[in-house]
Amino acid sequence: MATVKICLIGAGSAVFSMRLVGDLCKEKSLAGSLVSLMDVDRERLEVVYELADRYVKELGADLKFEKTTELEKSIADANFVINTALVGGHQWMEEMRRVGEANGYYRGIDSQEFNMVADYNTISNYNQLKFFLDVAKMMEKLAPKAWLLQTANPVFEGTNLIARTTDVKVVGFCHGFHGVFEIIEALGLDPRKVDWQVAGFNHAIWLNRFLYEGKDGYKLIDEWVESHSREWRPNNPFDVQFSPAAIDMYRFYGLFPVGDTVRNGTWKYNRDIKTKKKWYGGPWGGVDSELGWKWYEEQLTMVIKLLNLIAREKSFKLLALESYEALFESLNLPEEALDQIKREAESIISPEKSSGEQHVPFIKAVTGGGEERLVLNVLNHGPVIADIPEDVVVEVPVTVDENGIHPEKIDPPLTRRITRFYLYPRMVRMEMALEAFLTGDRHVLEEMLERDPRTRSSEQVKKVLDEIMSLPFNEEMKKHYDSSSDKR
Ligand code: NAD
Repeated sequence: MATVKICLIGAGSAVFSMRLVGDLCKEKSLAGSLVSLMDVDRERLEVVYELADRYVKELGADLKFEKTTELEKSIADANFVINTALVGGHQWMEEMRRVGEANGYYRGIDSQEFNMVADYNTISNYNQLKFFLDVAKMMEKLAPKAWLLQTANPVFEGTNLIARTTDVKVVGFCHGFHGVFEIIEALGLDPRKVDWQVAGFNHAIWLNRFLYEGKDGYKLIDEWVESHSREWRPNNPFDVQFSPAAIDMYRFYGLFPVGDTVRNGTWKYNRDIKTKKKWYGGPWGGVDSELGWKWYEEQLTMVIKLLNLIAREKSFKLLALESYEALFESLNLPEEALDQIKREAESIISPEKSSGEQHVPFIKAVTGGGEERLVLNVLNHGPVIADIPEDVVVEVPVTVDENGIHPEKIDPPLTRRITRFYLYPRMVRMEMALEAFLTGDRHVLEEMLERDPRTRSSEQVKKVLDEIMSLPFNEEMKKHYDSSSDKR
């Protein structure tokens, strides 16, 4: 049994707050531990704290929660720091997207080849990267031995930045690999008989191994594609694992793209809403289109509204599924959104289920609670993935135990096309984003946009960056890049 301090930054996160609170409360090996909830938004913090406190009591768990708006206080003496904060929230992202679109960049300047995920900025992400680094630097001083579980996006750029520039033990976390389970379920396979591996970068992973009962499972995928792909329709905007885009990527690259990787193809699938609908299915055209993202943001708003409602209603029994029925009915949500929320609530409420997030299994394993197989973002030491530099973070299956993280041997290797045509250009984008951020050289940001197929002139590039940096919340970003007359 390990008694630890876990600091949760951005504790009010619509995506992670209750998933992590639920998982932490259910993990018996963490009995006696302290969870420090930290957020700059007092209202969200109060709500999560109130719910965590009630959840612990209802469950009879031996876990203590504290709340604070002070980063230093939360990080001090922590053993684990989980960062889920999105600086400025979705609102800042949407404002920057609007400026991008007004200047001819459909879905904003950060929607880029091999990175179309709509909350994963690699150009206008100064505030977010600066915050990642502030957290890590504070950890060096106040909790030098702690693990940093980097969860906020961009995970690829953020984990690389921290791994290269600080002494903090950083690991990137993403639930995108769950796409493997979607494949297993769609094919009707017994998960215990599947031997699988994925490898690549965050949001850029590929199913390199897929054996069923020891035999080639790709044959089963091929059969599914042959017999079912024509009548495939998405159940919700995130349902893209078997979309025409995924199948097209499989045919071109030679392995199946997993989870968010399907969202991260080229402009071939993403030029405009019509193209997106063709490749990711209607009516949304995938979650990163204007329609899909609206659906997602409405869902997140609904989650926050629900948490507020439940927190205010003191007599509401958190662990009784039936108490949610009336609440859900009153929401008037479209069927597919209601389904999603119900499933999510059930995994948090049920004492036997976990959210599927990997944070608590990781903490349990490194504190001596047993071995776990996880998919994590770690430096490519070894190398784990051939042909990728060792100072680049890769997303691979690992075994975690009290001695640390042990990446699996990637076998069979990724195809040459995946490494050379897909991972290399994605890696170059990460290198450019970090180079721009670390040197403050605006020319690097300009160069990223000069290579963008939507760019018609250098004036357009300068104008869109000027306008983004002139937004009030980007004052520091502007100063950072203005002071760089020439940093080449
Ligand atoms: P959200 O806006 O609902 O939550 C972010 C929280 O961070 C808010 O409560 C906000 O108040 C807080 N915050 C903002 N600035 C802060 C600061 N300086 N200090 C402390 N807290 C601060 O966002 P969300 O939709 O829940 O997403 C959160 C992050 O997680 C995003 O970066 C998103 O892209 C990422 N994400 C990651 C995965 C993954 O698997 N790794 C999956 C989904 C989302």
